[in-house]
Amino acid sequence: MARVLFINGGSEGHINPTLGVVQELIRRGEEVVYFTAEPFRDLVEPTGAKVITFDVSKFIEAFVAGGRSFWGRIGGLLRTADLIIPSVLEQTRGQQFDYLIHDSMFGCGRLLAQILNLPAINSCTSFAMQPEVFDGMRESLSRHVSAEENERARQEFLQLVDDVQTKYNVQVGSPFDIFCNPAPMTIVYTAKDFQPYGESFNESYKFIGPSLASRPHEPFDFSHVNSDHLIYISLGTVLNQAVDFYKLCFAAFSDTKYTVLLSIGKQTQLEQLGDIPANFIVRDYVPQLEVLQHAKLFITHGGMNSANEGLYYGVPLIVIPLGSDQPIVAGRVTEVGAGIQLNMEDLTAENLREAADRVLQDASIRRASAEIGKSFREAGGYERAVEEIFAYKRSLGIE
Ligand code: UDP
Repeated sequence: MARVLFINGGSEGHINPTLGVVQELIRRGEEVVYFTAEPFRDLVEPTGAKVITFDVSKFIEAFVAGGRSFWGRIGGLLRTADLIIPSVLEQTRGQQFDYLIHDSMFGCGRLLAQILNLPAINSCTSFAMQPEVFDGMRESLSRHVSAEENERARQEFLQLVDDVQTKYNVQVGSPFDIFCNPAPMTIVYTAKDFQPYGESFNESYKFIGPSLASRPHEPFDFSHVNSDHLIYISLGTVLNQAVDFYKLCFAAFSDTKYTVLLSIGKQTQLEQLGDIPANFIVRDYVPQLEVLQHAKLFITHGGMNSANEGLYYGVPLIVIPLGSDQPIVAGRVTEVGAGIQLNMEDLTAENLREAADRVLQDASIRRASAEIGKSFREAGGYERAVEEIFAYKRSLGIE
């Protein structure tokens, strides 16, 4: 059986879909060493992997150091090399691995695969990206900064590429390579028919659907929750400091027939929200996979995992995208008819309540979310991911 090195960054969105994969790899006899940020140790350890970690504050410091321009952001990913690469090499000294799985965005995994001379598999927790789409993103990010700043950031980036290549004796490749980390095989945690331009991806992309494995969580008692009219609201784990939005939700749904379960995240204090209406249950974190099996509507920021998880259970969505890939997710949800999009800038309590009433009454939205849920479940999840990993491994002659 093989030894696997898993390189990931530090956010739940990038880690959660990998947990089932790692658990299944271990169940089938692989030994996994998992590198991630220290705060996620408790999330990963129950899979049975040996967890090694890095300091998340130093990682963020390096990542944001290049500024917000396109070149600064891509450079930011490269700046983490001096933290990630020595740390992995130090913590795995003397160990042999047979292959490496790395996140598609964080962690310099593709560079580590070159240094350690290991076959690599890409773990893509958002939509997969073709170079043309990436070029579009590059243009839109470049628009916000002056030509001078862009040029300065580009020069810094070129210097960075040179430094990293010389220091670690690796080929860094293009900005697309740095941002998307292509590998001989890519696991994408959604279904091909939900992926924008799904048909344009070659066979090395394995659309295995949402990978949902149960995760460790505080007990949550559903016996007192009336799930007949249950609305679940969450803005995920990163961009969730949104006191005004949470208060707007109170105004939208207090004194209605709905029971509302609101996850506010760990960065907002309950006291900041004032009086909580009687039909609301507010928590800083909930077992989302369990909640979605009871919810009739999910109001979400459209994080890839949240959208995937909601649709997996056939729950219609109202998506209020806040940034990163969320507008693309929102666009796909509306295109497939499984929900609608609202914008945070012009959101009012009235239009949120009206939208919720409308979505809940709309049979075609319910049907579309049920259909996409079926395609998600049929895509195979983490078991299919491990089948694909084993087929790839066999093709390389690895036992
Ligand atoms: N999550 C959860 N409970 C919560 C809030 C979030 O279990 O109360 C999980 C959710 O199931 C998902 C992840 O955190 O797997 C959030 O990832 P997503 O990509 O949706 O958003 P991000 O946090 O990256 O913005």
